[in-house]
Amino acid sequence: MSKAILTKAANYCETNKYRFTEPRVEVLRIISSSKTPLGAYEVLEKLGKVIKNPKPPTAYRAIEFWQENHFIHRIESINAYIACDAGHRHKGSQFMICDDCGDVTEAHLCDLPKPLKDSATKNTFTPSRWNLEIHGQCRKCLSI
Ligand SMILES: [Zn+2]
Ligand SMILES: [Zn+2]
Repeated sequence: MSKAILTKAANYCETNKYRFTEPRVEVLRIISSSKTPLGAYEVLEKLGKVIKNPKPPTAYRAIEFWQENHFIHRIESINAYIACDAGHRHKGSQFMICDDCGDVTEAHLCDLPKPLKDSATKNTFTPSRWNLEIHGQCRKCLSI
């Protein structure tokens, strides 16, 4: 999946005339090939293995770029980043985070769950983005 997302990102940058720079490519490769979410510092550390002495702002700007363009999501409650494996870009994200093994599963709902949407509508509030994070135990950890 790491390769697919890189191809998609390369096309996306070309279409939108964004630069597909080496730090951007490597940062996206690092985040998308990791099974668990990575903190910014871990990304920087891994980047140091492919690019000589990367400056922290270089890594952080690349992370920000992919986040703004919805190729990666930030998981607020654990302050880490994960690649989006949906075939399209979306506004809202929902994650199930296992507190035992750190495994993260994204639920690809493009809409807000109905009770939340109803509540927003009732308050004539227009949601533009959202991030739902559900903590618990994954199936693997529960069956141990
Ligand atoms: Zn996503
Ligand atoms: Zn688990």
